[in-house]
Amino acid sequence: MVIEIDREAGFCSGVSRAIRLAEQELSQRGQLYSLGAIIHNEAETRRLEQLGLRVIDHQQFAALHNATVLIRAHGEPPATYETARKNNLQLIDATCPVVLRLQHKVKLAHQQPETQVVIFGRKNHPEVIGLSGQTGNQAIIIETEADLQQIDFARPIHLFAQTTQNRKRYQQFTRRIAEAGNENIDADMLHFEATDSICRQVSNRDIGIAQFAKKYDVVIFVSGASSSNGKYLCGICCENNAMTFKVAAVEEIKKEWFAGAEKVGITGATSTPLWLLSQAAQHIKAITQNTHIGDVS
Ligand code: SF4
Repeated sequence: MVIEIDREAGFCSGVSRAIRLAEQELSQRGQLYSLGAIIHNEAETRRLEQLGLRVIDHQQFAALHNATVLIRAHGEPPATYETARKNNLQLIDATCPVVLRLQHKVKLAHQQPETQVVIFGRKNHPEVIGLSGQTGNQAIIIETEADLQQIDFARPIHLFAQTTQNRKRYQQFTRRIAEAGNENIDADMLHFEATDSICRQVSNRDIGIAQFAKKYDVVIFVSGASSSNGKYLCGICCENNAMTFKVAAVEEIKKEWFAGAEKVGITGATSTPLWLLSQAAQHIKAITQNTHIGDVS
């Protein structure tokens, strides 16, 4: 049996940068607070915690004074920066530049007269909370069709998407808002603008990961349980290969999945470290026989 690791897998640039900034600080001081898990990957978070990273929630952040805190790639709402200023907290701001630009666009859209900012994303996702914060939490967050009822079609609408959302669903919602607008008011009265803000580093993996999944008898998808793009990319693998198994840790991999398999592919989310994929390959080799770990595919 041959095992191959997806060449396209590994961190996106935003996550790489956040980890690099954390490691730099930890190598100098041996201690750093992170506001929320630095990435949605439990194994990588544990590795950084062993270097001195301490993950805190917003309540702990509000009570913290005179310390250094890392803002993760998802970004934060303005209220977080205000708390940091009041509490004399030094911030290492690892907000992904792609998210920063999106925050700026959301803020500008909200400043347009009467405009409703609509964000297609998960309501409790930290990036969405950071984006909504740019509008004073006035943005309408849509996850399901029922959420469209909150939109006032008589006012201008500007739609954005959480960077890690599914592009097909975003396009469906774009069409649905336009249709619902036409159902509610005269077509020439509808002011609807849509900005596709899905990160290309996620969406560009669609095609590649679909082709990758088709090449193997079994696909192991390694991802943290709460990773949005992990769910999305794993969904594409499942659509293209019914023998796709999602795991968060290598210990979850079961020997019986590989019965009769000749080729196994390993891939993961943009928040899955490459070292974890290598560990998965070694683990599969250990629990199966006649295994060869091939070059990355
Ligand atoms: S997925 Fe894109 S937007 Fe999100 S952190 Fe990575 S590079 Fe930045």
